[in-house]
Amino acid sequence: MASKRQIFVGSVPIGGGAPVVVQTMTKTETANVEATMDQIDKVVEAGAELVRVAVPRDQDARALSEIVDRSPIPVIADIHFNHTLALKAIEAGAASIRLNPGNIGGREKVAQVADLANQRGVPMRIGVNSGSLPKHLHDLEMESPVEALVEAAVEFVRLMEGLDFTNFKVSIKSTNVPDTIQANRMLSEKIPYPLHLGITEAGTRWSGSLKSAVGLGALLADGIGDTIRVSLSTFHAEDEVKVAWEILKALQLREKGPVLIACPTCGRLQFDMDTVVAEVEQRLEDYEEAIEVAVLGCAVNGIGEAKHADFGIAGAKDEGVVFAGGRALKKVPTERLVDELFHQIDLSLERGSVEYDETEAAEGEEWVRKIETENADDLTPEKIARMEREAAEKGESDRVLLDESDSPTDGRRFTRT
Ligand code: SF4
Repeated sequence: MASKRQIFVGSVPIGGGAPVVVQTMTKTETANVEATMDQIDKVVEAGAELVRVAVPRDQDARALSEIVDRSPIPVIADIHFNHTLALKAIEAGAASIRLNPGNIGGREKVAQVADLANQRGVPMRIGVNSGSLPKHLHDLEMESPVEALVEAAVEFVRLMEGLDFTNFKVSIKSTNVPDTIQANRMLSEKIPYPLHLGITEAGTRWSGSLKSAVGLGALLADGIGDTIRVSLSTFHAEDEVKVAWEILKALQLREKGPVLIACPTCGRLQFDMDTVVAEVEQRLEDYEEAIEVAVLGCAVNGIGEAKHADFGIAGAKDEGVVFAGGRALKKVPTERLVDELFHQIDLSLERGSVEYDETEAAEGEEWVRKIETENADDLTPEKIARMEREAAEKGESDRVLLDESDSPTDGRRFTRT
């Protein structure tokens, strides 16, 4: 269930129906202002809307005011164990404080932070991680880690409400993906506050991205979650931002720049599509428009397979076709496919619409038809998928289809269709 309440971190709304916000965390020593600013600039370029910095020491808190001044996006201070650092971070102008009320040294110290945050209108993120549950919940944790996480979060919520502080979002995180999903589902039913989603210590770029896509994706698809941080074991925080955006784009929750779709390739491929896809992906980084661009390894399936794409190419050994909206634009030599694709994209964006040269389009269509005819009997991955889809739509998906060689009907008293 989407959160009812909304908070503002700086000027960025979170929850209450606002678009899901992408955030990340710097990996530099915060007191090293230049290194931290360099990383903030990189994550902003990648699309971060909020950035968190670790504040474990006094010198980090002192560096905060300059970082806050120079950062183009709101800066969140990440505090553990020491409530005086939270107070200093608020004084330094942090747009939000991340605090685990369970490790800050008791209600009195949390109250001091809440008082100052209330005075300054600074929101907080309060949260629990599976590794740091309060002692009195350890037995429950043995029985049900999910219930223990939710209980801890609800206790913190009640604690903050008891301190007259309600300007917060909540995070509940675990390294275990199913537990994170279940715990956030339960929590979203119990509290109206915005939820920050993440998978703790998700892992490397590869495995961490997948775990995050599965865990955050399952929740976001249900409308749960108001801001996300993808945690990856890499210094390059901008990669976390890119992955977060891909998750939101895949779910069509946010638009940001182009979407690249590409076939998986198969034995029909006759040109170096891996290089072509890499080049297309790299060149698309220069575009801000939310266009969908398709790269197909061949035209056996026709270009209608990618008719939802705004632009695309389908290649073959020597020639290929550039298309737009499922219709051929022109036939071109394979080595010029990428350049021509971008030429057509640029032209169309400049004009505001795709214009077809009827002669060139007809040549392209003719080339596609030729390839389709030559390969009419090929069972391509796309054709199999389409046949399965059509069968499912007709309600035939559960039918067992026996092969004649396994179970001949010839010479028997029945036929099989
Ligand atoms: S048949 Fe499909 S998967 Fe194989 S190369 Fe052609 S478009 Fe790609």
